[in-house]
Formats: sequence, structure tokens, C-alpha cells
Amino acid sequence: MNPSPSIFRPGAGVSGELFADLHLHTLFSDGTFSPEELARRGAQAGLAAMALTDHDTVEGCARMAGACRTLGIEFITGTELTAEFEGHEVHLLGYFIDTQQPRLLDEIKKFQAVRQERVLEMVSRINKLGLPLRAETVFALANCQSPGRPHVGRALVQEGFCATLEAAFERFLKKGRPAWVPKYKISAADAMELIHQAGGLAVMAHPGLNHCDHIIPQLARDGLDGLECFHSKHSGTQSRYYLALAGSLHLAVTGGSDCHGFSKGKPLIGGVKLPLAYLEKLKEARRAHPAAAPLH
Ligand SMILES: [Zn+2]
Ligand SMILES: [Zn+2]
Repeated sequence: MNPSPSIFRPGAGVSGELFADLHLHTLFSDGTFSPEELARRGAQAGLAAMALTDHDTVEGCARMAGACRTLGIEFITGTELTAEFEGHEVHLLGYFIDTQQPRLLDEIKKFQAVRQERVLEMVSRINKLGLPLRAETVFALANCQSPGRPHVGRALVQEGFCATLEAAFERFLKKGRPAWVPKYKISAADAMELIHQAGGLAVMAHPGLNHCDHIIPQLARDGLDGLECFHSKHSGTQSRYYLALAGSLHLAVTGGSDCHGFSKGKPLIGGVKLPLAYLEKLKEARRAHPAAAPLH
């Protein structure tokens, strides 16, 4: 029988079982923790392994690897790419990627340029609504290559235009609101190929948030390697459903908190603990991968 994640058994961990959190963000995208702070909090939460999955970047991976090494935590490189399949937005996590691979770095640069354009467009729309928010303020606050909506929202709060981040999203930034700008997405097939070429495995993030379960079998046929069955926003019923689906489609099972530090409420790290047995299976899938280099 597969081990159950701690969200089914709140007391788990006392028995000495080891856990991973494979979905984490830092200030290299829209999180608020530095890699060192994140690793420290992971250690406090008792994690034995962590993956960094910042949006459209691998910049934080080197520092995170160093911080994890110091704390005796296993580190897995990663990223989270926003992709599209038949009109549905899907987030694809790439695990074990070579963060120096030239093609990956090239593509990431393009995604980041598009993100910066999108921030300029959002700010321009906010300006047209009469608020003198400056793009420089957003970029200075973001201080990273992958700026996004949370940074625009935080700048609106910082400048006193909105009381809270939630209010900024509600008034301006949510889909359908006046400063919402559609996000460029590569196709899911291209994103999976990019991840595979960089020696990684492609995992669909938080399927429970995307409401397009019917496309998962097709993604699996196109090269998807795993499904994020355990996520902070998945109910127990959803997690069990995705576990069964992953089993029937022969997909690896992953899980993570999707912690963004303080940028989306309270830090979630430690809220989802994936038993290490799942990480071992993910590594087996990685070893079987054609582009696989030896794991350390
Ligand atoms: Zn996501
Ligand atoms: Zn995420």
C-alpha cells in the first residue's frame, strides 16, 4: 500500500517518517522568502527534501541547493511553467532539470521578457484608470526576472492605492477586472518537451485548481510524467481522486504546499508533506527517462 500524505493523518511525522515538499516559491518569482529563509523554514517543518519551483525561472536554484546542503536537506531543482492545452491553462512543474541547459535558459529569458511586457501593460491600464502607479515601482519591488500580478498588487498597496493585496486583485488584477492582461502561454506539449530536453520530468501542478481533468489522459499521452495529487488547496477527496487517476494513467505522484511566503496569506510550508516513498518513485521515473543524466 502507498503511504498516505500527512494531510490524511495530521499526527504523521512523529513515527520518524520522512517527508518532502516539492512545490515552493521564493522571491526569485512571486514568493517573499529568500532561498535561505525557505530552506530554514523547511528544516523547522521537518522536511527531508525540498524542490524549488519558481515561475519561469531557475535563478534561485543554486542558492537553494547551497542552503539545503548546509541544513542536510535533499534538494531537487525545479521550475513552474504556465502552459496552455486546448484553451485550458495548466501549470507544469519541471523536476530534476539541468538549470544550466542553454535552450532552457533561452526559453526562460523569453518567458521573462513577456512577463515584463505584461507588467507594463497592466500598469498602463491602471494609469488610464487615473492612478499614477509607476512601472519602475513595480519592477523595484519585484526585484526579480519573473515579475507578475502579485508584484503589481503589492505596489498598489505600497503606494496607498489599495488597502490590501486581495483588494488590489479584486479591483484591478483578477481575470475580467480592468487591469487584467491575458498571460502568454506556451503549449503544454512544447513545455513538456522543453523540460524533457533539460533532463527533467514534467508534472501537472494542482489539477484540482484547473478544472480540466478531461485533458489529463491526453497530456499523459503527450509525455506528462506525473500529477501533483497533494496540494494545499486540494481537499482529501480531490487528493484521493488524483491518486487513483495517476495510478490508472501510470503517472508519478507528487505533492507540495505551493508556499509563496507571505505573498498569498500565511506561509504554507509544512502544510503538505509528501512521504519520501513518492519521491523515490519519481526518481525511478527520472532514471528511466531517455535524457536522464545520473542523479547525484
Ligand atoms: Zn501554479
Ligand atoms: Zn506554484
